Amino acid sequence: MKGIYIHIPFCASACFYCNFHFSTAKKFQKDFVQALKKEIILKKNFFTENTIIDTLYFGGGTPSVLELGDMEDLCSFLHLHFNLKSLKEFTVEANPEDLSLNKLKKFKELGVTRLSIGVQSFNESTLKYLGRQHDGKQALKSIENAQKADFENISIDLIYGVPTQTKAIWQKDLETFYQLNLPHVSCYCLTIEDKTPLALWINQKKIKPVDDDLSVCHYKTMTPIMFQKGYVHYEISNFAKHTYYSKHNLIYWQNGAYLGLGPSAHSYNGSFRSWNISHTSHYINAVNNHDTLTESEKPDKSTLFNEYIFTALRTMWGVKWSKVKTVFGENYYDYLNKKMRHVQMQHMLEETSEGFRISEKGKLFADKIAAHFFVV
Ligand code: SF4
Repeated sequence: MKGIYIHIPFCASACFYCNFHFSTAKKFQKDFVQALKKEIILKKNFFTENTIIDTLYFGGGTPSVLELGDMEDLCSFLHLHFNLKSLKEFTVEANPEDLSLNKLKKFKELGVTRLSIGVQSFNESTLKYLGRQHDGKQALKSIENAQKADFENISIDLIYGVPTQTKAIWQKDLETFYQLNLPHVSCYCLTIEDKTPLALWINQKKIKPVDDDLSVCHYKTMTPIMFQKGYVHYEISNFAKHTYYSKHNLIYWQNGAYLGLGPSAHSYNGSFRSWNISHTSHYINAVNNHDTLTESEKPDKSTLFNEYIFTALRTMWGVKWSKVKTVFGENYYDYLNKKMRHVQMQHMLEETSEGFRISEKGKLFADKIAAHFFVV
């Protein structure tokens, strides 16, 4: 599978927890779109000629803040330079306040097949703590509009572990999600990133800090009900009804090749990793002045092995012995086997027909478990 990711670095305002690369300065949007088109030309040979692209993903930032004309322009341009005729999935990330019926119908015409809506919560106090622009009603309305526009493959993001979010509030968010009968949800635990307003206010003791016990309680509330409702916990933060797994994200998790375009976007061609300047106006200048836009590196075998272990253990497919042997060789295979035999956390792991994965119980400690197997 091959994918293209487009990073749209604009947001209407800054959420209090966010440390992604984005800008609220609308004045750069037109220049950005032109620069992105130039980057598309620069990187059109990233894949060999006529390679069939399986997935296209507009992420951000907030792609839904783009004007429809710009979105249309970018889609036509991408079609001109890449083989997108057999796309299996075309996802656009969107915020509820942007999703008018008119915009959604246009997305449909442009070939968008999947929406990832940044709902985060349906509860007003949670949304307020997070600094989101929408309210619960708008979140519901955006989903209703998406369904009216004939979107079936809809995912929403939800956040748990928010200090103002009682267990009852979190359960209500989950119940609302089940009632909507959507096929996919990404549930993220709130983490406080450096240099965000939340980090500052917690430091100044103006707001409640996050509490690990609360996050664990929310996680434990969520997983059994998800199973009951028929959702597969296919990646640590992602649940889906069967066949609705995010195909684009599977490319990342299964070590496939992808091209990232736009500021801060990352690419991988099977041997080299590269990443773009993480600053919108510097990105625009670099493209226009033919300056260095992208840095790259060829990761060594042990880095690739550690990355494989880390990502594979986050998914339900887990680590595959055959892959370890064929991709990394006998030495890595023997090393992993030995580590497995001496592991102190057997109850956190379970065997699969092809290898091993983290058990439901172990998922709360996934990073720690993966680190145990790293080559240092
Ligand atoms: S909309 Fe998304 S990318 Fe933009 S500030 Fe909020 S969390 Fe960050």
